[in-house]
Amino acid sequence: MIIVLLGPPGAGKGTQGEHLSEELAIPKIATGDVLRAAVREGTPLGLAAKAAMERGDLVPDDVILGIMKEALASPSAARGAILDGVIRTTPQAEGLARVLAELGRTLDAVLVVDVPDEAIVERLSARTVCDVCQRPFTGRAPGERCDADDHELQGTLVRRKDDEPDAIRNRLAVYQRQTAPVIDWYRTHGAALKFVDGMGTQDEVLTRIRTTLGL
Ligand SMILES: [Zn+2]
Repeated sequence: MIIVLLGPPGAGKGTQGEHLSEELAIPKIATGDVLRAAVREGTPLGLAAKAAMERGDLVPDDVILGIMKEALASPSAARGAILDGVIRTTPQAEGLARVLAELGRTLDAVLVVDVPDEAIVERLSARTVCDVCQRPFTGRAPGERCDADDHELQGTLVRRKDDEPDAIRNRLAVYQRQTAPVIDWYRTHGAALKFVDGMGTQDEVLTRIRTTLGL
């Protein structure tokens, strides 16, 4: 089962993607993760990506698509994959469709996790992250110590600039501008688009996702 996850920043799709990945025993593929792995392993595409990053350029879409294709062709993804944050723009959706066609695979569902903008502003602006391990915390104040770290290197919780209300509204505007056309593209190309209400507890959202996907 190949599933594309779409949703605004702060919709919780990363966490839901992990749960789904465990339940379905298929890997969760995120662009950043496969990119870092390819660079670490020094594959030809990894080296191309590294060269672009060292020049301070964005990694070209065709390099990212190549890396994505290798990840999807790997034995661990034989039964499927959850693609999290992989598709943000229409050209990326088109590119993924090409890659899947080349691999003889099909996209089973495009799952859109919906959360109203104001709820996201509230969620993210209540979030702090550890300045050492980068773990996010909800309901913990800046300046508190992270309890996930070793005592020798215990981080302090900070509020990311990205998580200030104005910055969040900007990120949401970018998401709407880029992703609304992606949803339209999938609609006109016959993808199984599924919308899930992302409000509520993680368990509630996961139950809805299961029902929507018929699991
Ligand atoms: Zn920490």
